[in-house]
Amino acid sequence: MAELTLDNVTKVFDDDGSEIVAVDDVSIDIADGEFLVLVGPSGCGKSTTLRMIAGLETVSSGDITLGGDVVTGQPPRERDIAMVFQSYALYPHMTVKQNMSFGLEESTDMADSEISSLVEDTAEMLGIADLLGRKPGELSGGQQQRVALGRAIVRDPKVFLMDEPLSNLDAKLRSQMRTELQRLQEELGVTTVYVTHDQTEAMTMGDRIAILNDGVLQQVATPLEAYHQPENLFVAGFIGEPSMNFFEMEVQGDRLTGDRFDYSLSQETREAVGDATHVTLGIRPEDVEIVGESAGDHDFGAVVDVVEPMGNENNVYLSFETDGDADVVATIDGMRSLDAGQPVVARFPESAIHLFDTRTGAALK
Ligand code: ATP
Repeated sequence: MAELTLDNVTKVFDDDGSEIVAVDDVSIDIADGEFLVLVGPSGCGKSTTLRMIAGLETVSSGDITLGGDVVTGQPPRERDIAMVFQSYALYPHMTVKQNMSFGLEESTDMADSEISSLVEDTAEMLGIADLLGRKPGELSGGQQQRVALGRAIVRDPKVFLMDEPLSNLDAKLRSQMRTELQRLQEELGVTTVYVTHDQTEAMTMGDRIAILNDGVLQQVATPLEAYHQPENLFVAGFIGEPSMNFFEMEVQGDRLTGDRFDYSLSQETREAVGDATHVTLGIRPEDVEIVGESAGDHDFGAVVDVVEPMGNENNVYLSFETDGDADVVATIDGMRSLDAGQPVVARFPESAIHLFDTRTGAALK
């Protein structure tokens, strides 16, 4: 177990003479025993970051520290890190037991009997004890994933690195394994960095999440902080499903004016806007209220475009024009019935809105 620190870590790839900055000056402190999820869209630099921590990729500048020791230049085998890949990377000709034992036989001087009982105990913990004699080809995807995890666990590393380990599993198994992995990690207390592009996985699994875009770290926060207090437009749009609604507005005195509607600001919100001249107003779908009739200047007449039933909730797509495309999505109680074409009033309570400086993307409120 150990604390893991990235200090101004940058990775520049040379692609036929042109430079690709895959990871740009990233600094993160990951506490001993913490579960940190690294999340972001495809190509944002997640895997490269993980591979640099593992030592599988060199670092162009900056430092990586593990348990207080700088490991930046160390080869992978000296780092005491175990990695679990999306592809599982099991040896097809070896049994489950051999797959799990192999690393220990190679890298430690543990006695065979000791390795054997450790592998058996770990297999028991993972519910794969009865599969030890089988080969990977005779296992389901979920079972193979458990073997890959088991192989990482028996090594008792300082850090687990996981690169989209659940993405080859079907939705049901994925959600089951999410819970199981979390429980295991908590039980073992091993510092873990988990890479995913799936924001649901990030929101449900991480003690904290680190959101990357274009190689640049956008925010490191607990899932709830990132959801409720996104530091910028990118995080606000990336976290949450359906996404936050955004409207570009101009600041005119204590009002915001936009193509679709104007919005008046309280003194407190006006102060938060400061010198910004163009702001983006954001509101989460569940914060949009659908009310009977307009009662103030945060209420806007709209027409129901489409209702998407989700079970206990409905996603209602609203348009501010009778024949326009949907401008805003509201999530409402699934028991409440609304019909396409129905006129409604959408309320954007001021306490719920987010404001971002449109030019810089930085959160103002
Ligand atoms: P994904 O979710 O699709 O796996 P990612 O967030 O893990 O994406 P990386 O694989 O880290 O992204 O890639 C980050 C950027 O670096 C991308 O633009 C990618 O094309 C580039 N890149 C990665 N490896 C190399 C390489 N060996 N040579 C050149 N460019 C690379």
